[in-house]
Amino acid sequence: MQDRYGRTIDYLRISVTDRCDLRCSYCMPEGFRDYEEPANWLSFDEISRVVAVFARLGTSRFRITGGEPLLRREIAGLLGRLNAIEGVRDLSLSTNGTRLARLAPALRQAGVSRLNVSLDSLCAERVQKITRRDALAEILDGLLVAKSQGFHPIKINMVVMQDVNEDEVDDMAGFCLRHGFILRLIETMPIGDTGRAAGFVDLQPIRQRLQARYGLREGHIAGGGPARYLVSPDGQFSIGFITPLSQHFCETCNRVRLSVDGTLHLCLGQEHSLALRPLLRAGASDAELEAAILQAIDLKPERHEFREQPDKLIRIMAHTGG
Ligand code: SAM
Ligand code: SF4
Repeated sequence: MQDRYGRTIDYLRISVTDRCDLRCSYCMPEGFRDYEEPANWLSFDEISRVVAVFARLGTSRFRITGGEPLLRREIAGLLGRLNAIEGVRDLSLSTNGTRLARLAPALRQAGVSRLNVSLDSLCAERVQKITRRDALAEILDGLLVAKSQGFHPIKINMVVMQDVNEDEVDDMAGFCLRHGFILRLIETMPIGDTGRAAGFVDLQPIRQRLQARYGLREGHIAGGGPARYLVSPDGQFSIGFITPLSQHFCETCNRVRLSVDGTLHLCLGQEHSLALRPLLRAGASDAELEAAILQAIDLKPERHEFREQPDKLIRIMAHTGG
């Protein structure tokens, strides 16, 4: 699929729930309860159907996310089903890691090999402050089980925040180097009031400092998405930089997002969308679904406006599917 700016869209991110057991300060408001009604969640049959249609349209890469995807009951069963669909070549998962120790074996058996785990600090008090739960031990346990189950690569997503964890980037790099994880540093995005209040840090100076300290070169990582990577000369260690504000990457955007209620969002930072659930529940044929999706791809905006219009977006990341 090509959009009107000539970008190939071959990656779908699927939110299987908007619920979460954490309340990360940059993502969900503390008392947040405004969840989607279960009756409006796409069922596993509906998600599988949408994935099959996207796969026929040339999408080969799919990521399951949320909210916290490991909260959705029987999630490993869904992943196994999706993995068996013709044309699905790459199936990955983003998680906060709290349930990973329990679920890693079943996820591995379901055919998932690539994992992104959010971890913003190695200090228990800080994790508690950021996520509003004493979650560090569970997350570390989950990471070690995932490593022992042979997940590869395991990427650690660290949102860098002013006066919160910006002083911990080097410790996190050392932790990832020791464990063979890929570190990805993320700039806060002004998504919802939470995102706007998170304490933006420009990652460019941090990038220059890490490049000099570890003797890193610019490099490429398979399935790297929008992150720009620095890689060690022996290729053993890499750090990705997701810099939607200091150096946006919209011109190479290859993705769209399906939220738990079956809305296809064309851009993380804009409102353009297509409601697929009504079509699915009204008995649309595969050809009708394909046509609707192709029309929606045509609506994909050129770029986000996080810098120009930071107050624009009220929907939070956990709703769209991060
Ligand atoms: N719960 C899972 C997790 O935390 O990995 C998956 C969903 S979460 C919304 C996906 C990613 O979005 C996480 O890496 C999180 O750090 C990131 N995120 C959420 N809100 C953000 C914001 N305002 N700015 C930057 N990244 C954000
Ligand atoms: Fe939950 Fe992930 Fe949002 Fe944190 S970033 S509140 S773990 S959905």
